Amino acid sequence: MNAVESTRIVARVSCGAASFVAWKIAVERYGDRVEAVNAFIVKEHADNRRFLADCERYLGRSVTVLRDTKYGADPIKVWIAKRFIASREGAPCSKALKGRILDAFRPNDPMVLGYTSDEADRLDKFVDANANKRVIAPLIEEGLSKEDCFQIVVDAGLTLPVPYMQGFDNSNCLNCPKGGLGYWKHIDRYYPENYEEAARVQDLLGPSSWFLSDRRGGKRERISLRTLREIDEPRWRIEDEPPIQCGGLCELTESPAHGDVA
Ligand code: SF4
Repeated sequence: MNAVESTRIVARVSCGAASFVAWKIAVERYGDRVEAVNAFIVKEHADNRRFLADCERYLGRSVTVLRDTKYGADPIKVWIAKRFIASREGAPCSKALKGRILDAFRPNDPMVLGYTSDEADRLDKFVDANANKRVIAPLIEEGLSKEDCFQIVVDAGLTLPVPYMQGFDNSNCLNCPKGGLGYWKHIDRYYPENYEEAARVQDLLGPSSWFLSDRRGGKRERISLRTLREIDEPRWRIEDEPPIQCGGLCELTESPAHGDVA
């Protein structure tokens, strides 16, 4: 039986443009067979819930929202409990707060994932690492890029969550260790309380929890968020960094995780 012959199909939705468009296409193709699921995380912007509700109204479908109870759906609590923030295998919060919960939701049903057209290699890695999962990637099938998804959101009359308007390339947690130093500079600008909270965890866990200074071939050294705050380094700009992948995708995808986080 291939993916689309199965009765139910699960669309994993974050609160971003790509997963919305993937969900939309799935509904257009498969109608009531599609059930959307989302993992609630407390460190996401509150406007994410507004966007998700708007998407539900637009599609005339509701999303099943799941929430971790072991860590209060809070990445900070995961970091402290696991005694690390990120490693080459990714961030522990990703698996604990998304992967574990989403994987347990209708695990045998085909899933719709919002990989965009430039992420075919990531889809291949996912398929290689998850041979038992049946995956539908409508954005790749239809050649839709992230920019195309933004336009489709606009054309639908929807407004993306606030972090997009502030220059973030997604609306995931506002303290994501998969972000580069430019991302953290941006967090400090818009969400200094989140920055400070993450800095306090680094104070607690020590230098092994500091972030690497450069991901693109420069001299690599660990820098704490406390130190980063004191450095005015124009090279660390969020717009120059690769997108962060954690929205119902990274927590179960390729290995190692996107980016050099350790
Ligand atoms: S978006 Fe980042 S902080 Fe949030 S769960 Fe995923 S890896 Fe953790």
